[in-house]
Amino acid sequence: MLKTERPPLDVVVVGAGVVGAACAYYAARAGLTVAVVDRGPVAGGTTGAGEGNLLVSDKEPGPELDLALLSTRLWRELAEDLGAAVEYEAKGGVVVASTAAGQEALRAFAAAQRAVGVVAEEVPGERLRELEPHLAPGLAGGFHYPQDAQVQPALAAAHLLRAARRGGAELITGETVTAVDRGPDGAVCGVRTDRRRLAAPAVVNAGGTWGGELAALAGVHLPVMPRRGFVLVTEPLPRVVRHKVYAADYVANVASGSAGLETSAVVEGTPGGPVLIGASRERVGYDRTLSQEVLRRLAGQAADLFPVLADVTVLRAYRGFRPYLPDHLPAIGADPRVPGLYHACGHEGAGIGLAPATGLLISEQLTGKQPEQDLTPFRADRFPAA
Ligand SMILES: Cc1cc2nc3c(=O)[nH]c(=O)nc-3n(C[C@H](O)[C@H](O)[C@H](O)COP(=O)(O)OP(=O)(O)OC[C@H]3O[C@@H](n4cnc5c(N)ncnc54)[C@H](O)[C@@H]3O)c2cc1C
Repeated sequence: MLKTERPPLDVVVVGAGVVGAACAYYAARAGLTVAVVDRGPVAGGTTGAGEGNLLVSDKEPGPELDLALLSTRLWRELAEDLGAAVEYEAKGGVVVASTAAGQEALRAFAAAQRAVGVVAEEVPGERLRELEPHLAPGLAGGFHYPQDAQVQPALAAAHLLRAARRGGAELITGETVTAVDRGPDGAVCGVRTDRRRLAAPAVVNAGGTWGGELAALAGVHLPVMPRRGFVLVTEPLPRVVRHKVYAADYVANVASGSAGLETSAVVEGTPGGPVLIGASRERVGYDRTLSQEVLRRLAGQAADLFPVLADVTVLRAYRGFRPYLPDHLPAIGADPRVPGLYHACGHEGAGIGLAPATGLLISEQLTGKQPEQDLTPFRADRFPAA
């Protein structure tokens, strides 16, 4: 009898970013035999080019906020196992308004969020500096969101995968998935890479910004597009920024579908000392050109929030391409068009935060359980084919 190379696989996860890593982690924990394939290294896609904010503060009530609240709980649980290794910090977020009208808008936003379980505490302008001593004077006020947290994204992906491998998962890097195989009944029966065939009755598309191309390999339409963002990294500093801090207009930028350039500074310290300043948003395809205009705008907005940053050296800047779907919601769950095909991609600027909930919900579907959140809003067939 011929020896098989490995025990039969239950599922192949394509993509070793943070979302694929979380899918592998929860699938292995549920007892499934898993292989993860990536054409590059772990976290070589957008995961290695993002920041690590785990936010509820920027999300309005709806399916994405529900997902973020579930993820908040799961990240807390994961932190007990992986905490120091992934630089998990339950630091909280502070959103500030420069005008009374801005504060009123934040108040209305927070009231709606509170109704669904978000903790949001109003902070009058004169008390903001108790939370953030280096904030600019004269701000009208803000809101403190103690549930916001932070991880180091590449470490998070790596350690989730390490834990999945301890549970028996196999990691294959440096191999491109070139085909998704389907049987005579149309159901998925595995993938082919440039080096081998992996047979499995389930395939998870965790291809991030390239998730549309993977969907096309399985014969379905999913319009994932790149939304570019830049981040500035300062020289290491003592802790001048304690929370994740951003201005009220960030929420509007995140929610906007505009292809044009949008910037609003999001400032956060890191355990290593550098301050990260994000985040711009624009749809310019995969253009990797460094934009002086964007970097200047971000630096100026950060210094408006924290004047102390005006004299700090920026050591480097990097860019990444968020996986954008036109309604800003990810594609999560079984694809009704192709039995055995699951999607876990299109998380735009929130994939680090939403990864654990995505992984858990996918594993629940894979094992035939009722997912603990309704996945209807995330169905991949919600976009009509062009
Ligand atoms: C500037 C910036 C700041 C951000 N800040 C935050 C933040 O603070 N908080 C947050 O939650 N999110 C943030 N994000 C978004 C976050 O980084 C992404 O949502 C997240 O990394 C997506 O993870 P992923 O695993 O889906 O995709 P990726 O990390 O891109 O992983 C997909 C993987 O699939 C692989 N792949 C694709 N096609 C194939 C194929 N055919 N064969 C084999 N492998 C394939 C790729 O090589 C890649 O490694 C930010 C993004 C940017 C750009």
